[in-house]
Amino acid sequence: MVATGIGPRPAGSALGVDIGGTNIKWVHRADAAVVARGTLPTPAAGPAQVAVAIAEVAAARTVEAIGVALPGHLSPELRATTTIPNIDGDWQGFPLADTLERATAKPVLLMNDARAFASAELALGSARGHSDVVFMTMGTGIGGAIALGGTVLRGPGDRIGEIGHMTAAPGGDRCGCGARGCLETVAGGRALATAWSRALASRGNGNGNRSRSRNEDRSTANQGRSATPEDLVEAARSGDTTARKILDSAALAVGTALGSVLAQLGLSTVVVGGGVAPAFDLMRPAVESALRDRRRLIGPVTLLAAALGPYAGAMGAALNATAQTLAAPSPSALPRLSAI
Ligand SMILES: [Zn+2]
Repeated sequence: MVATGIGPRPAGSALGVDIGGTNIKWVHRADAAVVARGTLPTPAAGPAQVAVAIAEVAAARTVEAIGVALPGHLSPELRATTTIPNIDGDWQGFPLADTLERATAKPVLLMNDARAFASAELALGSARGHSDVVFMTMGTGIGGAIALGGTVLRGPGDRIGEIGHMTAAPGGDRCGCGARGCLETVAGGRALATAWSRALASRGNGNGNRSRSRNEDRSTANQGRSATPEDLVEAARSGDTTARKILDSAALAVGTALGSVLAQLGLSTVVVGGGVAPAFDLMRPAVESALRDRRRLIGPVTLLAAALGPYAGAMGAALNATAQTLAAPSPSALPRLSAI
């Protein structure tokens, strides 16, 4: 890692920050390259403390603008947070951009984390060279974004592309958004972990009255703690049939939802990323099977794995800050990246 602030003033130097429920990831981009990056725990005391933590990172670096990505929605002017369901604290109406600008004296741009991920993958990652793409991030929940004509669509409040909140199971489990049966209640990381915990508990209660494989016995040994999506994936890779069925069922829901989006928009390229994405090879056959049903409408679908890794959201936030502040000659001439 190279410290900046030494030598000529960097052109287009921005801090990109991606706030998650557990960690805050940041990257420092200067001269179109990442010069430093890091991770810190997300303060549990709420948005004011999160702003303090980000300001401390910014103060230690030489940057001209700050981009922040969040897992939720923003005010129509993109200056404050509205619905941020998975981070501790009261985020409703918190003026994060203004708070950070006062603390750092730098321009601050906010965006949704899935749209940030998509912006980075479109500019620098696996969607480079494509102009019309559907993006899906599979983590605790499921995020999404849509690029048309080489631009990631955002819209008022940065709400375009919420694939995870398409209904996959009418009347199903209650989602963090308030609705029932959203795709992320069926196929998000939290849903997968819950399904696997239930399967393990069922075995522990003696409900599994069939003979178990050695791998199933090993899985049962983990039931003293809450299962994680990684536990489920490990069991599936070891050949556990119940784990495979849970992933297949999630993959069918993902493929069906993606097929609906692709048919609606007339697109045929998908980029999949997020923390659960390393297990996508296990889900791919069922996803592709669901997409084959759409072939007459949308033709063959190209499913691409995201290329930029866990810092993609922070990179997208930095790119957004650079594009909307540093490259613009004056505030009145800011490029309207969110135009649709
Ligand atoms: Zn939902």
